[in-house]
Amino acid sequence: MRNGCWIWVLALAGCTVETEVASLAIVSPAPGAAFTRDQLGSAGTLVAPVGVEVDVGGDIARVALRAGDSELGDLADGALTAELAQSGPVTLTATAFDADGIELLSASVDITIDDPAVADCHGWLDLYRVDYAVGPDKPGVADPITVTLPLNGVAYRYSGNTSQRETLFGDCSLMKSLAEAAPIVRAHGVQELIDIGIYNYRCIDQTKTPPNCSMSQHAYAKAIDIAQLVTPDASYSVLDDWVIDPDDDTCMATTESDKDAWLHQVICELKRAGVWNIVLTPNYNADHRNHFHVDLTDDADFIERTLGGDPGDALVDVAPHGDLGDALVDF
Ligand SMILES: [Zn+2]
Repeated sequence: MRNGCWIWVLALAGCTVETEVASLAIVSPAPGAAFTRDQLGSAGTLVAPVGVEVDVGGDIARVALRAGDSELGDLADGALTAELAQSGPVTLTATAFDADGIELLSASVDITIDDPAVADCHGWLDLYRVDYAVGPDKPGVADPITVTLPLNGVAYRYSGNTSQRETLFGDCSLMKSLAEAAPIVRAHGVQELIDIGIYNYRCIDQTKTPPNCSMSQHAYAKAIDIAQLVTPDASYSVLDDWVIDPDDDTCMATTESDKDAWLHQVICELKRAGVWNIVLTPNYNADHRNHFHVDLTDDADFIERTLGGDPGDALVDVAPHGDLGDALVDF
């Protein structure tokens, strides 16, 4: 009966192959689970760490994970901790591939990422692990903060100085906005911002005396003027590299050089991210030729002269900015 025995073994082997059909199931997180983005991720954003675990069967070479349309990488031994920075509902999708890179099957789960609940602006600075002290009190500044730099991985240098700033003074809301801006500029390699100042207690119309006037956001320490962005390889100067666009369509404009394109891309990403309410570039007027003015004006949302037209010449100050002279006037 020796031959019959072999036939029986082969039949068993055949059955075994048929039972190893590829399978993929998400074990964790559970459908509908909610997470809070209250941890500082490696890229400088606030993230929700979400442990993802899958069960796989059959001949699967690798499993890739994505959140919405964003690829998060491959799972290792069926697990991966995703750092999710975008609040709101998100669909996690795991996709299994065979050794030839052919997609075999996928599984998904819907979860929610919540914003952290913080008591006040200082709570945001704590989440971003900003090193700061409260104060000193200055006219116009509601929530004065002095940050020991760098701020979320970004150094600051005052224009014209050879050494970097050690501290940065401003309203807490501006410091929070700079913490939010940091991962966006860091993604472009920026390690240092060269600025032309934050705090300056003044009217927009400098013929008037504070506080009986339309105040500049610099008076509240809720604005910063950015002159250059510096990466390990290059320095991007608003004055030297930004080419003024013929129309108001700053973020749709055709750019002239690589550095001009880079500056357009970065400032428009920052505007789209809602980091600041008002963003002015050299397109705005000659007084802004050498810097981006960004601020947190309540109820405002524009870049350049859009959304209701030109805010008006009356809003443009004609006074020296800081100690740099009359050539540098500002919104
Ligand atoms: Zn300004």
